[in-house]
Amino acid sequence: MRLLKRCNCRYTIDQSLKTCNSCNHSFKSAYPPKFSPHDKYAEYRRRMKQEAKNRGIL
Ligand SMILES: [Zn+2]
Repeated sequence: MRLLKRCNCRYTIDQSLKTCNSCNHSFKSAYPPKFSPHDKYAEYRRRMKQEAKNRGIL
């Protein structure tokens, strides 16, 4: 598992660093949360199903 962290100006693997001494921003995980298209469209599907019920399609 990689433990790369980043601030506004650079990357680091030093886990002891909390705040960058160059740009003054806090270090955060360099990896974005896992993208899940399934979850993204779940809400959309629920609304479409409700809409279909309201119109008497289902
Ligand atoms: Zn920085």
